[in-house]
Amino acid sequence: MEPTAGPRHSSSPRAESLAARLAALTGRQPRVSVDGCRTRIEADLPPQLTNTQCRMLYLALADTDHCGIHSDGYAWAELLDLPDPARLTADQRAGYACTLCGLTLYTSRFLGTVNGVQLWACSPAC
Ligand SMILES: [Zn+2]
Repeated sequence: MEPTAGPRHSSSPRAESLAARLAALTGRQPRVSVDGCRTRIEADLPPQLTNTQCRMLYLALADTDHCGIHSDGYAWAELLDLPDPARLTADQRAGYACTLCGLTLYTSRFLGTVNGVQLWACSPAC
């Protein structure tokens, strides 16, 4: 195995681990897309799942920040990888500037709380 060094922009270790679990469970390669600090994974489900596969699916999805099963026959999950507030500017920590792009916020969306700091970003997206 190649050692992974440096920043990875495609996805996080958590997202890769979930994608691998879903691939093993469904026998298909999940679709992974990254939007800012949000990684979305979609996995097509086989027409039939055994009880064991269902339980594994729910356990895998339970580790995520948002998830669901689409009526078109795929499971989706979103993972948020929020930055360490210590690396942000004072304005970003105070919610005056976007956590992701650093611009002044007018309309904002809540990303989550890290170490007691609420993080906000441009809405709908930057
Ligand atoms: Zn922004």
